[in-house]
Amino acid sequence: MNAEGIIRENIRSLVAYTSAREEFSGQDVTLLDANENPYDTGYNRYPDPFQRELKRAVARVKRVDAARLVLGNGSDELIDMLVRVTCEPGRDNMIVFSPSYAMYEVCGHVNGVETRSLDLDANFEPRWDALPGAIDGHTRLVFLCSPNNPTGNRWPLERVRELAGRFDGWIVVDEAYMDFATGGEPSGDPLSAVSLLEEYPRVVVLQTLSKAWGMAGLRVGICIADPALVTYLNRVKPPYNINSLTQRAAIEALADEETFRRRVREIVRERERLYRAFARVPFFEAVYPSEANFLLTRCAAYRELYDYLVANGVIVRVRHVPPFLEDGLRFTVGTPGENDRLIQLLEQWTRP
Ligand SMILES: *Cc1c(COP(=O)(O)O)cnc(C)c1O
Repeated sequence: MNAEGIIRENIRSLVAYTSAREEFSGQDVTLLDANENPYDTGYNRYPDPFQRELKRAVARVKRVDAARLVLGNGSDELIDMLVRVTCEPGRDNMIVFSPSYAMYEVCGHVNGVETRSLDLDANFEPRWDALPGAIDGHTRLVFLCSPNNPTGNRWPLERVRELAGRFDGWIVVDEAYMDFATGGEPSGDPLSAVSLLEEYPRVVVLQTLSKAWGMAGLRVGICIADPALVTYLNRVKPPYNINSLTQRAAIEALADEETFRRRVREIVRERERLYRAFARVPFFEAVYPSEANFLLTRCAAYRELYDYLVANGVIVRVRHVPPFLEDGLRFTVGTPGENDRLIQLLEQWTRP
């Protein structure tokens, strides 16, 4: 099947909304095309719908061609766009894993696309051998998450490569936490599915400025994909999905890779310190190694522990996802002071 065959019919024939502005940039022209207010408020003009300057900054940091980029109002918008561009509601299906990021399945349901949820094994890895049995002629999308939320483990890139060699649809690898696996170092790139893109045009990588870059409030998700898919995603994208303030602030932040890497290293150091402290907590039945900025533990009295922490002003995330994660608590790595406080509270808890 060629790429055309796995893009929805109505998207293939869609004529995208265009604004007259798209042909002009940065020239000394009189702008009377978009019904904007002519008085300069700093924000009276619509933002660049192609986010050209921001994409140049992202392309530089990620070491990819800007023609491979689509930016979203958070990755969540990109996940939704991917489902809408590739899956025909009521006919096609997509595959997700559990426990993983819940947004994929929600997007499938919202779009009326059958979502097949496969349980991860006891090591929180997909049962790769069982995957072909779940795929049929109408499977358009497989969502992988690596490092996986909420389990923190990375899924072997070799398995992704094997899947890409056999599967005809799109394989989306959500790497929201990959910078914590590589320590923010570009040299860590061999861990990332970005390294598969040249060879496998059906592989799509999602990253974000929300986690390692510390800009969750700005809402910038990054999709790195084959330029043919980029064209289709751009057709369905709301033209002004990244606002002017966000574009400006993100460009500024991306210029300072030094600070970014220092913070990532600090968070990784703290994650390892928390891991060692958690390993000594007698009421944790399991503490899982993590390549992200959180740690997953299992604790039979997870409800009581959660309530105790909340009562002391510390909010964590309960993950109750049978069959292998009935009693999960996910802890985001905080500042050293916040982590000290958490460790102290755990040391003081007497299990009911
Ligand atoms: C946090 C997270 C994201 C980021 O979503 P944004 O909309 O970009 O903030 C994406 N995927 C996973 C698995 C996440 O945990």
